[in-house]
Amino acid sequence: MAILPFDDRDGQIWWDGKLTPWRDVRPHVLTHGLHYASAVFEGERAYAGNIFKLREHTERLISSGRILGFEIPYSADEIDAACKQVLAANGLTDAYVRPIAYRGSEMLAVSAQQTTVHLAIATWAWPNLFGANRMKGVRLGWAKWKRPHPETAPTASKAAGLYMIGTLSKHGVETEGFDDALMMDWRGRVAEATGANIFFVFDGELHTPIPDCFLDGITRRTVMKLARNRGFKVVERVILPEELAKASEVFLAGTAAEVTPVRQIGELTFSSGPITEALLADYEALVRMSPEEVQRLAA
Ligand code: PMP
Repeated sequence: MAILPFDDRDGQIWWDGKLTPWRDVRPHVLTHGLHYASAVFEGERAYAGNIFKLREHTERLISSGRILGFEIPYSADEIDAACKQVLAANGLTDAYVRPIAYRGSEMLAVSAQQTTVHLAIATWAWPNLFGANRMKGVRLGWAKWKRPHPETAPTASKAAGLYMIGTLSKHGVETEGFDDALMMDWRGRVAEATGANIFFVFDGELHTPIPDCFLDGITRRTVMKLARNRGFKVVERVILPEELAKASEVFLAGTAAEVTPVRQIGELTFSSGPITEALLADYEALVRMSPEEVQRLAA
């Protein structure tokens, strides 16, 4: 399959306050964000013209920046408006939206106090993280890298630097034929996949790890609410890898991954089941509702 490089596409990117032709958005190579990972980003999805949980994503973007010690120079209202504007300008209704905030070029050393903070927002069609594999269930391999202690890395931020171990983990298992990696945390507890949270069904209940060193995903919280609305018991707890053989269903939840059944983790196999199917259907229905309806259901 021919790859369409991300720097050579038609369209508009919102960059530092205005829509800019796609190919002209070229930060200088001596940009702090590139050298020192002083960058935070979001992954959002629009369905039928509405960006699902836009305000939550914008708030997480602002908060991710603050965790890295910088303030994005736009308000939440301005960022929301910019995300909507770039979606419309590209004529898209069902798409992925990627805002990224990064420190600029005024300083290029570990200290970055005088750098300005930039914001770019791009959007493109991206049906699902796992493409055609999604509905038959994805296969996860065991990651070699661990999610770090929250005093070792800014784990509550969607910081670009945290994806370094994600890419290494994912590449590691892709060479063995898996779709994604299941990461443990530094204590050896089950954490998450490289770009999505994970859920298990044990004895008819929905269990998921406590997000104390990785993102408490917006999709994760949405799925927990949908499950409770269905009357399923939801348990956040410490989950150890040796327990996974007893799970009857496993699925991932994330903006890009949506709700994706898991059919294999290393040597263990699973089949999709009624709880995964119910939550997948509920999620698909919810994301296509108007923002007002989503708000009303969440109340
Ligand atoms: N963990 C990681 C590492 C992620 O990249 C993502 C995607 N942002 C998630 C979890 C899920 O977060 P969300 O549901 O907010 O997209």
